[in-house]
Amino acid sequence: MSDDIPFDKSFDLPPGRVEEVRPGVRRLLCNNPSPFTFKGTVSYIVGNGQVAIIDPGPLDETHIVALLDAVRGETVTHLFITHTHRDHSPAAARIKAATGASTFGAGPHRPARPLNVGEAPRLEASSDHEFRPDIMLADEDVVTGADWALEAVTTPGHTANHMAFALRGTDVLFSGDHVMAWSTPVVAPPDGAMSDYMASLEKLLRRAETIYFPGHGGAVRDAPSFVESYIRHRRSREQSILHQLAKGASDIPTLVRAIYIGLDPRLTRAAGLSVLAHLEDLVARGLVLTDGLPSADGVYRCRDDF
Ligand SMILES: [Zn+2]
Repeated sequence: MSDDIPFDKSFDLPPGRVEEVRPGVRRLLCNNPSPFTFKGTVSYIVGNGQVAIIDPGPLDETHIVALLDAVRGETVTHLFITHTHRDHSPAAARIKAATGASTFGAGPHRPARPLNVGEAPRLEASSDHEFRPDIMLADEDVVTGADWALEAVTTPGHTANHMAFALRGTDVLFSGDHVMAWSTPVVAPPDGAMSDYMASLEKLLRRAETIYFPGHGGAVRDAPSFVESYIRHRRSREQSILHQLAKGASDIPTLVRAIYIGLDPRLTRAAGLSVLAHLEDLVARGLVLTDGLPSADGVYRCRDDF
C-alpha cells in the first residue's frame, strides 16, 4: 500500500548546479544516483557570506570541488551532518580541511541495538565509521551562525544518530533521510530501528515546520500531512506482515515476496531488512513470537490469541 503516500519524484536539478531554494538556502546535487540515493545526495548551503553546509556528501571529487566553488569568496564556518552514511558525511573531512569549519552532529556511527551473537552489521558498506563531529549536538541544541540559527532535532530510526535541523525563524526543516518526498527511507537493523523511526515521525508531527529539504530529491511540501501518510504507510505494512503471518508465512523471504509486489530486485535485501525491522518491533510489543532474538533467518508466528 505504498500508493497511499503522495510521493513527489519531480527533481530536475542537474549535478553541480547551485540553486537557491529560499533566501539564504542553496542546494547542490552530487552525481551519485542509485536505487537508495535517487538522483544523488543533496548538500545544502545555509546563510550568506559566513555559511554552514549540511551534508557535504560522499567522497566524490567533483562534488567536493563544486561545493567549494559554490562558496568561493565566502567563509564556511559550520558543517552539519544528518547521519553517518557514506553518501552524507565522508566529504566533511575534506571540506573541513579546506575551510577550517567545525563539524556538528549527533555523534559517531553506532547501531540502534547491540549486535546479536554471530550478527554482522548488514549495511556495513553504507556506514561511515570515520566521522566524529567536533561538537556533539543534543536534541533542541541551537547553533547560531552569522545570519542563521539551526536547531538540532534528534530523529533516530534510519540510523541511531540521525539528526534533522530546523532553520530558526522559517518554516524549513532539513530532514536528511528521515523524511523524503521521493521515497520512504530504509530502516534496517541493527543500524536502524522501527520503533525509533515511528517515534521520530510522531515527533516531527508535533513541530511547526511545513517544508522539508531532504538529503535526496526535492522538497517535501505540506510536510505534516506527508509525515502522517508515512506513518499510515508503515502501519499498513505492519498489518500486511501480521496478515501474512496469520495466513502461514513464517520467514522473511516469504513475507518479502508476498508484500513487495514488483520490487526492484536490487532492493530485495533492503526490503528483507525492513521486514526484519517491523518484526523486531512486533516481537518487542508481544504481537509476534519467534525463538530467541529476532533475526534475518528466524521463524515467526502470530501470537495465538492475536
Ligand atoms: Zn542514509
